Amino acid sequence: MIYADNAATTPMSPAARETMVSLLDTCWGNASSLYLHGQRAREALENARAEVANLIGAQPREIVFTSGGSEADNQAIRSAAALGKRQGKTHIVSSAFEHHAVLHTLKALEKEGFTVTLVDVHHDGLVRPDEVAAAIRDDTCLVTIMYANNEIGTIQPIREIGAICREKGVLFHTDAVQAVGHIPVDVVEDNIDLLSASAHKFHGPKGTGFLYARRGVALTSLIAGGAQEKGKRAGTENVPAIAAMATALREAVGKMEVRRAYLTRLGDKLIDGLGQIPHSALNGDRDHRLPGSVNFCFEGIEGESLLLLLDDRGICASSGSACTSGSLDPSHVLLAIGRVHDVAHGSLRLTLDEDVTEADVDAIIRETADVVAYLRGFSPIWRDLMAGKKQFIL
Ligand SMILES: *Cc1c(COP(=O)(O)O)cnc(C)c1O
Repeated sequence: MIYADNAATTPMSPAARETMVSLLDTCWGNASSLYLHGQRAREALENARAEVANLIGAQPREIVFTSGGSEADNQAIRSAAALGKRQGKTHIVSSAFEHHAVLHTLKALEKEGFTVTLVDVHHDGLVRPDEVAAAIRDDTCLVTIMYANNEIGTIQPIREIGAICREKGVLFHTDAVQAVGHIPVDVVEDNIDLLSASAHKFHGPKGTGFLYARRGVALTSLIAGGAQEKGKRAGTENVPAIAAMATALREAVGKMEVRRAYLTRLGDKLIDGLGQIPHSALNGDRDHRLPGSVNFCFEGIEGESLLLLLDDRGICASSGSACTSGSLDPSHVLLAIGRVHDVAHGSLRLTLDEDVTEADVDAIIRETADVVAYLRGFSPIWRDLMAGKKQFIL
C-alpha cells in the first residue's frame, strides 16, 4: 500500500508513540493537583510547552494547548473578534480558500454582525500582500490567512502579510496546520500574532494541537470551566498526548531540511509524470508549494471514481480535503483558484512523505495514467469533448 494522503493525517512516529505510551504510565496524574503524581504531569506539560514554543520562536507562556487545529482556529478568530468588537472594529480580512474551521467561524461571525472581505487567491493559489493591504479598513480587527493550503499545497507570503498587519495595527492570525513541522515557521520573524497548529499533521497524536498568541493578545476561552491553561482553555490536559506532540515536532524540525530536499525531488518527479497525461493540469503554483504536495485536475473524469480505482490498486489519495469527501460539491479551494465545476470535479491530491520511494512515485504515475484513460473510456463528458461538442479547457 502506498499512503499518499499525508495532508489528511499522518501516522504517529515511533518516538512520539513511545513518549505517549510511557507517559500514560508515569504521568497519569492531574496536572492541577499538588501531590507528586500531579506535579509530575505538570512538569511534563510545562516541558512540552517550552519545547513547542522554542520550535516556533515563541515564549512558553504564549502557547495554549487545544484539541487540535480546528479548535485553535476557532479560538484565535473568536478572540480577535471579541477584542475588535470592544473597539467598534467588526471587519475581518481572509481568503476564499481557507480551511472550513476558519471559513465557518467567519460565517458565524457574519451572523453576529461582523463583515468579512475575502481576498482573491488567484489562479496560482497565492494571496497578494498588496491586495491584503488594500482590503484593510479603519474598522478591520483581524487578518486571517493560512500559511500553506491543505488541498493544493501553496505557501503564502506570510512574512510580508504579517509586516503589513503590524504596520497597520491589525491582528494577524495564520492557520499554520500544514506548515508547522514541514517548513520553517518563526512567529517573530514572520510577524504573526496568532497561529494554529495540529499534532496529527506532523506525526503526533490526533486530538492535540496548540494556539500561539503573542504576549499581550488576550484570548477568549471557548470552553467554560476550570482554570487550566491560565484560564484560556478549561479541561484537564491530555499530558501524554501533548508531550508526544512535542516529541513529534522536535523530530520534524530536526529533519526538516533533509526531508524537504527529498520530498521536493519526489514531488517534481510526480508533477512531471502526471503532467504527461493529456488534458491535465497542476493546481497551484509549482514553486511556492509544500514539499511533496501535488494536486492535479484531469479533464473528463470524476475524482471520486479515480480515488476508488486507485484504492483498488493500493494507492491512498484524496480528491481534496477529507472534509469534503462524501459531498458532491467540488472543492471550494479549486473553485477559488478559478477552476470551473467540471474540471474541479476531476481532481486528485497526493501528499507524500519520507516513506514513499521513487518506485512508489513511478507506480502512482503509471496507475493514475491507466485509471484516467480507463474512466475516460466511458465518460459522456469525454465523448463530447472528443466529438468536438464541448471545448477542452485543460
Ligand atoms: C487538518 C487541518 C485543520 C484541522 O485540524 P484538526 O487538528 O484536524 O482539527 C485546520 N486547518 C488546516 C489547514 C488543516 O490542514
